[in-house]
Amino acid sequence: MAALAITSCAPKATTDAGSDDFDYTVDRFADIEVLRYQVPDFEKLTPQQRILIYYLTEAALTGRDILWDQNGKYNLAIRDLIENVYSNYNGDKENADYKALETYLKQIEFANGIHHHYSMDKFKPAFSQEFLMEQIAALPEDKKPQNVDVILPVIFDPAVMPKKVNQAEGQDLILTSANNLYEGVTQAEVEAYYNARKDTTDATPISWGLNTRVVKENGEVKEQAYKVGGVYSDAITKIVENLNKAKQYAENDKQKDVIDKLIKYYETGDLKIFDDYSIAWVEDTASQVDFINGFIESYDDPLGMTGAWESIVNFKNNEASHRTEVISSEAQWFEDHSPVDPRFRKDKVKGVSAKVITAAILAGDSYPATPIGINLPNANWIRAAHGSKSVTLENITQAYDMASHGNGFNEEFVIDKETSDLMDKYLFITDNLHTDLHECLGHGSGKLLPGVDPDALKAHGSTLEEARADLFALYYLADPKLIELGLLDNPDAYKAEYYKYILNGLMTQLMRIEPGKDVEEAHMRNRQLISAWVFEKGKADNVIEMVKRDGKTYIQINDYAKLRDLFGQLLAEVQRIKSEGDYAAGRDLVETYAVKVDPEIHKEVLDRYAKLDIAPYKGFVNPVYTPVLDKDGNITDVTVSYTEEYLPQVLRYSREYRTLH
Ligand code: ZN
Repeated sequence: MAALAITSCAPKATTDAGSDDFDYTVDRFADIEVLRYQVPDFEKLTPQQRILIYYLTEAALTGRDILWDQNGKYNLAIRDLIENVYSNYNGDKENADYKALETYLKQIEFANGIHHHYSMDKFKPAFSQEFLMEQIAALPEDKKPQNVDVILPVIFDPAVMPKKVNQAEGQDLILTSANNLYEGVTQAEVEAYYNARKDTTDATPISWGLNTRVVKENGEVKEQAYKVGGVYSDAITKIVENLNKAKQYAENDKQKDVIDKLIKYYETGDLKIFDDYSIAWVEDTASQVDFINGFIESYDDPLGMTGAWESIVNFKNNEASHRTEVISSEAQWFEDHSPVDPRFRKDKVKGVSAKVITAAILAGDSYPATPIGINLPNANWIRAAHGSKSVTLENITQAYDMASHGNGFNEEFVIDKETSDLMDKYLFITDNLHTDLHECLGHGSGKLLPGVDPDALKAHGSTLEEARADLFALYYLADPKLIELGLLDNPDAYKAEYYKYILNGLMTQLMRIEPGKDVEEAHMRNRQLISAWVFEKGKADNVIEMVKRDGKTYIQINDYAKLRDLFGQLLAEVQRIKSEGDYAAGRDLVETYAVKVDPEIHKEVLDRYAKLDIAPYKGFVNPVYTPVLDKDGNITDVTVSYTEEYLPQVLRYSREYRTLH
């Protein structure tokens, strides 16, 4: 099921890759930096492909409100209110309350709701309730909120809906999570509901709960489907309209069939049809234009069932795809040589298709913060029988690289010039290779033993799945095979990524966590789990040291070969846990290594990082696509521009793509 399988993986940014006149930076507020990305070679596509992309981007942007509502049931009402107050304000723009309101607006637009997109904590407004009340009083009658008594505590009271997704062991994760995926049901009731329906002998199970909201009606637990005529009908109807237009410009019959199946799924809410769609989608490897549109990743559901709505439209970058094609063509070699117990390896690794893509639009759960790699579909049985598509969004990673050039990070945190130089030279390529290995091979490797429930690792499933894929990538980055395949030209290159990984996992990713808080997000837990585990297990051999210099802590790696060996050992153990469904061992690994933070190191990282003034989180504005019309108003082509700023863009989206009320 979705949470256990795969994922879009988190962004990272490092090193430089040339220079360009393009202005990559757009806005900076709170802990966020907004960047801009280019869509190279859009002009080399055919007009038909550009029109296809246009309608797919319309279908993408049209789903925006769905995610807002999934993220919290008052989000759309609060967005309306804050946008109205912001637009209506005609007082002093230097006023501190007004400035704080503007920051809050930017924050909620970035998070698609009132909770931080990464930490899941509710934003704390820095403007006063009195200020907001005054501004509400000044709104025209038709813009005044209906339910202000309900909304105000949701905005201001820290005790009301404090966390979008709560993952704390031992609590009712549904009752304590503020998102809108469940209503009036307890965790135990939801688990009982699905346990009664799941058939563990079904070889082709649907992705239970992926497109539903679970509620209690007359004392009975029920699912309500997201579909035309169901939950989010108005938004989904418009997505379908745009998909129907896109279909007329499909590149081939196979792609037309993919779009048809997606439409049918949206019209029926039938998850069996979603599986048919996923199979058709994964088997369409000939089309250059491609897209994701639907309820996909389930990180925002504490039980890992319901998918957050998202869309990414893209097209293949043919030249850059060579790298991932080489890796994919060797999939079986990597599987056969992994340090995992042969019982848990796949006898036949099937159809791992891999490509480097150019993102054309980011939407829903992928906007403004976006993954840099994607591996879908999530259903394990489809992956086993039909393979998966794995992609790297290279125009996005390139924008990260360009924007982070010379930000002082390496000078502050990397132990010596030798390591820093190695990172300058090899981190861009080894980072990309890490993503490729993680996405193309890592998630697709290994198998469950017969009868093992794919959801057996429950709330820890996502973390352990990410760990499995990362460990696979880390282990193979140091393999001479990569040099033999012509992907690296220096046997020491992998050390750049190893150093960065351990530095990040043990120290620098803590910059994203508030003092006193635990690590919660699955990818972050995974990185700390791996780093802390190899640190501890390597102590006897002094593999990794934390050394102090002038009161500052640095990571020193003394034995890279042993470090690789430790990655291999942990990979074997995590694969065993997954293959056997060993919940207790998985939980112990996560609870022991992945969650708790050393408060002293944490404080030091925050202090050192604050001095650099680098935003811990980044996201993107989209380009703007404009149809070219003939004299009869028919679309003949599409142009792209990169001039729209952040706040104007999100406010325009709220106006033009408003589908839910
Ligand atoms: Zn992943």
